[in-house]
Amino acid sequence: MEKIDLAIIGGGINGLLVAYEYSKKYPDHLVAIFEKEKYLGEHQSSRNSGVLHAGIYYPKDSLKRRLCIEGNRLWRTLAKELDAEINPCGKYVVACNDQECSELDQYYKKAKENQVYGIRWAEKSEIEKLLSYVHVKKAFFSPTTAILDVSAALKGLERVLYNKDIPILFQDEVVEINKEKDGFILKTTHEEIFTSKLVNAGGLLAVSNRKKLGLNDLEDEWVKGSYLKINRNYYTDHLIYPVPEKNLKGLGVHTSFDLQHQVRFGPNTENVEVIDYSLSEKIIEDIVPSVIKTFKGLERKDFALDYSGIRSKIKYKNQIFSDFWIKGPTCEMSHGVLNYIELCGIDSPGLTSAPAIAKYVLEMIAEM
Ligand SMILES: Cc1cc2nc3c(=O)[nH]c(=O)nc-3n(C[C@H](O)[C@H](O)[C@H](O)COP(=O)(O)OP(=O)(O)OC[C@H]3O[C@@H](n4cnc5c(N)ncnc54)[C@H](O)[C@@H]3O)c2cc1C
Repeated sequence: MEKIDLAIIGGGINGLLVAYEYSKKYPDHLVAIFEKEKYLGEHQSSRNSGVLHAGIYYPKDSLKRRLCIEGNRLWRTLAKELDAEINPCGKYVVACNDQECSELDQYYKKAKENQVYGIRWAEKSEIEKLLSYVHVKKAFFSPTTAILDVSAALKGLERVLYNKDIPILFQDEVVEINKEKDGFILKTTHEEIFTSKLVNAGGLLAVSNRKKLGLNDLEDEWVKGSYLKINRNYYTDHLIYPVPEKNLKGLGVHTSFDLQHQVRFGPNTENVEVIDYSLSEKIIEDIVPSVIKTFKGLERKDFALDYSGIRSKIKYKNQIFSDFWIKGPTCEMSHGVLNYIELCGIDSPGLTSAPAIAKYVLEMIAEM
């Protein structure tokens, strides 16, 4: 049976970056990535808003805040290494009425407490400019929020891993995991392999993967988000976000655009139990009212269905667990399985945080 040092389940942004960081620290070790799909990043990593978040919304002591702020910074150099463009557009968070103004004040305070770089109130001239797009009474600006060309980043990672001889085994699903004394035997679609260490970066399936090890205290709480595109000329220089929804299932329907400046609105939030990315016209009815409440000059006929993604949220012992769940064998609330690290509940800002998550995982590996 073939033996390797590290097996990574999942060819999303997190699995790929863990492999990349590991190969820098342990250049002589054998690593392999198992990806059940035909292409990279078929799930969350290519079905998101592509936004590098600044770290505004998360609790101060959370991994989400810390890794988001660090990841945002790390992407600036990493994107260059991977030939992936970043549009440093920044974002306005806008309040339309008195109620939203007081909520905006709270988010501004939170952003300051979270030590988010460069947060400032919008000046009168900026509000006047914003008024041509949106109904706005008050707004703040986040200069480090940006757009990443995610597809170029994934391709760049595929290229650098190929150059380092790290195989990405496509259409090769890990179907069984057997714990051995000094590692694991993985049964996959095509082979049986022994690995000394195992990282589960399975995204939406990370919880079901850990069940193969007998770990049953997490459950999935998937939330689908769909996007609409604008089918006529529409341009905003900056991202524009409303004050977020109270329950923080999402950040509210907001603008996003790609590097070609195709503007879209979304994502909405819908609890789902199966992975199904199909879109129905009902989504237009769901999203458009909240868009035209904030954005001016748009009508229903301007919107068309675009794409959807599913956020990998989790429940721990039946309660929503809203932080990233990144656990090794010895940390707080650890699963206790030697030589095993799991990345569960990596929803937004998981793209932004990915380079910092990879470094965090490497620290855990060094301690194993
Ligand atoms: C609608 C939406 C909007 C978002 N917007 C943003 C944003 O603007 N900014 C931001 O920072 N984050 C955003 N996110 C979050 C971000 O996209 C994710 O946190 C990130 O992509 C997670 O990457 P991942 O590698 O952990 O998981 P994934 O990309 O889901 O990859 C996991 C991979 O593992 C594979 N896999 C699973 N189990 C197995 C197995 N047993 N064998 C083989 N392969 C397996 C899957 O096929 C999959 O390809 C958004 C997410 C969604 C859904």
